[in-house]
Amino acid sequence: MKKLVFATNNAHKLEEVRAVVGNKFEILSLKEIGCHEDIDEPGETLQENALIKARYVKEKYGYDCFGDDTGLEVEALDGAPGVYSARYAGGDHDSVANMQKLLKELNGAINRKAHFRTVIALIMDGEEHLFEGKINGSIIEEQRGATGFGYDPVFMPDGYNHTFAELGSEVKNNVSHRALAVKALCEFLEKIE
Ligand code: IMP
Repeated sequence: MKKLVFATNNAHKLEEVRAVVGNKFEILSLKEIGCHEDIDEPGETLQENALIKARYVKEKYGYDCFGDDTGLEVEALDGAPGVYSARYAGGDHDSVANMQKLLKELNGAINRKAHFRTVIALIMDGEEHLFEGKINGSIIEEQRGATGFGYDPVFMPDGYNHTFAELGSEVKNNVSHRALAVKALCEFLEKIE
């Protein structure tokens, strides 16, 4: 089986990708190739960060690899928090503070349209490929629901009356930005000899 590294140690993301990829590729995490560093994400776009992670693994460990980056892009905030979604309120990955800041910034706003966007960068056989997944929705005025992570309690996808955090992982993982990007990646991998 061909080995392919996913530049993450996030168990949830690994599980999601392994379920879709099937048994054509063995998907390895960073830990499994002996990479214990946190790869920096200094890019100014999701695409740059996804590429930085994939290139780092290829250059340092020699494996074909893919990396991902995701952001919440809010129309009334000119696309913020975007690539800075994890550290919007300053601290790293403080979801409650991030959501509070977002609700404050949108206080009284009529246009609450937003989307999540995931970019996956794959390096395979010496070439770089990009895949994207996006889900449109809106930011509601208070937090609702207890599942998921990040901005899930304030994001309501179009076509639903519930936030991602109320919908639960089964529904979310079928329609989400990340699921769509992973699907695009897997469709590409299926065609590889
Ligand atoms: P990452 O690139 O997957 O680490 O995502 C960066 C940040 O975007 C996370 O720290 C979250 O704040 C936010 N985020 C990414 N995906 C989701 C999601 O599915 N739901 C809610 N927030 C998310």
